[in-house]
Amino acid sequence: MPSYLFQFKELAAFTRHVAPDTLFAFDLDGTLAPIVNDFGAAKVAKPVRNALQRLMGLAKVAVITGRSRQDAIGMLGFQPHLVIGNHGAEWPGQSGTRRWELVQLCLKWRDRLHTALFYEPGVEIEFKGESLSLHYRKSEDPQLALAMINAAIGDLEPPPRIIGGKCVVNVLPMQACGKGEALAAAMDELGCSRAIYFGDDETDEDVFRMARGDIFGVHVGRNDQSAATYYLNQQSEILELLNSIVGVLESCCESGPECADG
Ligand SMILES: [Mg+2]
Repeated sequence: MPSYLFQFKELAAFTRHVAPDTLFAFDLDGTLAPIVNDFGAAKVAKPVRNALQRLMGLAKVAVITGRSRQDAIGMLGFQPHLVIGNHGAEWPGQSGTRRWELVQLCLKWRDRLHTALFYEPGVEIEFKGESLSLHYRKSEDPQLALAMINAAIGDLEPPPRIIGGKCVVNVLPMQACGKGEALAAAMDELGCSRAIYFGDDETDEDVFRMARGDIFGVHVGRNDQSAATYYLNQQSEILELLNSIVGVLESCCESGPECADG
């Protein structure tokens, strides 16, 4: 069960993993940005963006999101060292390696879902390349909308991987890379010996469940079922945590590389 991070003992243990060679990796919606009714209107608040940009001067920063890369970069308003989209499946500069077979499958699924859910008010189908998201936040009867979505997904061929979220159902090809695999690859690519990952959703449990000694999970929002080590009570606490991390790293820079823990 995760422990609340803003306590003396927990914060002291957490700080030992904060070093210049730590990768700081974040989910986007619900983690760096508050969840809003209109998913197209979600924004990263300016103080959070400023703190992340300061962090980028001190360590490597990655964002691993269910959104497409282009959408995520627009929402962030800056480019972190690495932005991985589509729950881990979409990497930068991969026009040659973009998983076109996955994109084509998602296009086929989108057309099927569009037909099946055409008369379902409040359901929006977001096509993101290697995955799809079905949003039902605007539905007047969310339970009915979810039942309709699940029925429509149940008819898809081949059967997709389904990951639930907050008023959203994510549909991915079975062979798509998840967030856990993506984070491990990001650590290799950026030359980081450990990572701290922040997330709030079912998709982020893919990282938390890896149970690697060099990856630490922080769940945004209390969830006793989460496999993360720590949790924050609410999304707004992320700013205080980012500022604390920046402060620790700045003092590291002053005292030299020996401050890194192992
Ligand atoms: Mg999220």
